[in-house]
Amino acid sequence: MNVRSSGIGMTSERTRARMVERLRAAGIRNERVLAVMQEIPRHVFIEEALASRAYEENALPIGLGQTISTPHIVALMTELLCENGPPARVLEIGTGCGYQTAVLGRIAKEVYTVERIQPLMDRARRTLRDLRFFNIIFKHADGHFGYPEGGPYQGIIATAASTHIPEELKQQLAPGGRLVLPVGTAEQYLHVVDRTESGFQETRREAVRFVPLLPGVA
Ligand code: SAH
Repeated sequence: MNVRSSGIGMTSERTRARMVERLRAAGIRNERVLAVMQEIPRHVFIEEALASRAYEENALPIGLGQTISTPHIVALMTELLCENGPPARVLEIGTGCGYQTAVLGRIAKEVYTVERIQPLMDRARRTLRDLRFFNIIFKHADGHFGYPEGGPYQGIIATAASTHIPEELKQQLAPGGRLVLPVGTAEQYLHVVDRTESGFQETRREAVRFVPLLPGVA
């Protein structure tokens, strides 16, 4: 057991149970999503100085100007992604610390995750390996272009806000697949795009607040 998964982990199960109760109270209904979030030690994805705050509804810094998504937004986006059943193959844009990746990794058979900041991707890879996730494939790239080699996907999720819905992501959806992503700049909304047999169906959902999806790699 390494430093980050010892000590604090002993008390965090109850803290996680409280987090899950808050998610329920906020309207999250998918039992699989709730069970997975009860199980995954969110604090090990966050640097130790902030780990005691890991279960609060805060977007905590994860370094390099990026933030971990709040428990509620992770639950909401995962629930939306799974509305028509758990997707077998998922693409995630914006690995960050890898917490959302882990949640997806317990629900989908395979997760492809793309991150543009190499040190963040390397750290997420280590964290997920320490937690013994073996169904996650990482790519250091600009996620605007998706990850065509791994597709088509039953689910695609972006955890950074795009100015528009990238056509490449839509094209990498399998028929019946769903894309969930934040769109906008100053004002952002979650968008859901379903690929049907005949085309695409788009719905605008709640207002959200994400870091921007940036071009290129770092
Ligand atoms: N789900 C992550 C969210 C991190 S914030 C978590 O909870 O930790 C969003 C992430 O998207 C950042 O790590 C940022 O570097 C990444 N990102 C931004 N633009 C990107 C792009 N074009 N391609 C891939 N990743 C991108």
